[in-house]
Amino acid sequence: MQVSEIFYTIQGEGITVGQPAVFLRLSGCHLRCGWCDSKFTWDRKSGSKMKLEDIAAKIKEFPCEHLVITGGEPLLQQQHILDLLKLLPDHYVEIETSGSLDTFLNDVVHHYNCSPKLENSGNKTKLKDFPREKTYFKFVVDSAEDLSEIKEFLKEYKIDRKKVLLMPQGIGKREITQRSQWLAEICKSENLRFSPRLHINIWGNKRKV
Ligand code: SF4
Repeated sequence: MQVSEIFYTIQGEGITVGQPAVFLRLSGCHLRCGWCDSKFTWDRKSGSKMKLEDIAAKIKEFPCEHLVITGGEPLLQQQHILDLLKLLPDHYVEIETSGSLDTFLNDVVHHYNCSPKLENSGNKTKLKDFPREKTYFKFVVDSAEDLSEIKEFLKEYKIDRKKVLLMPQGIGKREITQRSQWLAEICKSENLRFSPRLHINIWGNKRKV
């Protein structure tokens, strides 16, 4: 399995924000979002090739059985994920995905954080079939114009608004703070859940946090 990094932190985004979690960041992404904060993962050969047993052992070193598998696009390596999770039967597992690839991990994943890409990413994507009871949809919002696109998306894919989170675009602490105030007002008026980027608020734009 091609691994970018493994680290222990708190989940900074989405419905489980604040939860201590081991992050397994996998290498490779088929998309090229303009504002991507993890371009270092794009190359499928970046990071290091690790044996599944060694990855599981590293994950078990941390005092937490909450695992977030992210990337890059982790579903590019889903057969390896399936095999890895056999070694971690007690872990609660979240997958961060763009939602643009078919998944066969539904039986082993507890929930998906699906982040469909809008026009603001530079590579708008179609949504594949994800189990709605296990999926939250997190949209990166860059400007007010994104709202109409998000509403169209929710209508097209019949997504329950209770499963939707809006998150400010930005990779710097100051940028996130400014956009958070603006986006919080939009969330209030649209009655949609806000997602912070808490790890950036706490540690700034650093890797392995
Ligand atoms: S899908 Fe995620 S990892 Fe891939 S380019 Fe977009 S933001 Fe970056």
